Amino acid sequence: MRASDLLHPRPEGLYCPPGDFFIDPVRPVNRALITHGHSDHARSGHGSVLATQQTLDIMGLRYGADFAGTTQAAAFGEMIAIDGVDVSFHPAGHVLGSAQISVEYQGRRIVASGDYKRQKDATCAPFEPIACDVFITEATFGLPVFRHPPDTEEIARLLKSAAQFPERSHLVGAYALGKAQRVMRLLRDAGYDKPLYIHGALARLSEYYQSQGIDLGELEPATVESGGKQDFAGAIVVGPPSAFADRWARRFPDPISCFASGWMRIRQRAKQGGVELPLIISDHADWDELIITIKETGAEEIWVTHGREEALVRWCELEGIAARPLHLVGYEDEGD
Ligand SMILES: [Zn+2]
Repeated sequence: MRASDLLHPRPEGLYCPPGDFFIDPVRPVNRALITHGHSDHARSGHGSVLATQQTLDIMGLRYGADFAGTTQAAAFGEMIAIDGVDVSFHPAGHVLGSAQISVEYQGRRIVASGDYKRQKDATCAPFEPIACDVFITEATFGLPVFRHPPDTEEIARLLKSAAQFPERSHLVGAYALGKAQRVMRLLRDAGYDKPLYIHGALARLSEYYQSQGIDLGELEPATVESGGKQDFAGAIVVGPPSAFADRWARRFPDPISCFASGWMRIRQRAKQGGVELPLIISDHADWDELIITIKETGAEEIWVTHGREEALVRWCELEGIAARPLHLVGYEDEGD
């Protein structure tokens, strides 16, 4: 049996014929295995969903309790047999609950890593390299130019600016699942103990993180109903990037616009978006992390999903590792 008989792309997503399931399908299917809660990977309307409990909880928060016909929780490392295919979930270090999915059949193992990173992140379990024959990797930042600095350095720049401009507010754009909570946790780890103000779109997910033992400190709603503009002087406000373009953002005094994203490595991108303080904080592997991870899995073959496939495929070939792009569509990269 060839590896591509065990998993291959279909319009709905990656399909496993012997197990009759899809991984992160972008259209409703009968049986879905889901790596993590970002909306491009976790969609509603499947017959059944197998995912970690945290990913199931997050899907419930986003789509409502009836997001799938039936659900089953997979604990990390637990072997689950699906029609003779052995499936197991392992931490991916991307966001809370995120997992790589190992698919094993007739002595061959393929690991679909979903989205992942190797940088330390106190808001989720760290990535575990899994030995496999075929490793399926993303390539969101699959170019050597992408090297993420330590997140602590980026947060230190934010805190320095907040100290420099005590009369202004700092608006930090961060995606609602994962990035926002990571930024808040990094601020706490750096010793920032004032309340953090959050946009309403972050409230339920942040509450959920807190319920899972991830301490984000005191969070306050970023609304001016009860006070005036000056109440936000010196405040750090966290919200989804989309919110900063609309009226909501105008309630804050002389705001400094910040954006936490791996894309902030590209100065022009920050400039075009009107970002004054770009923070290079990514939930995806950078070039070095991709390379290290590919080596650590020991895989003899690499399949590259979404992102900048060509450079990574080329690097693999030069290293004598077989590689090919999968050309999966529909992954819009919510998390970065
Ligand atoms: Zn993601």
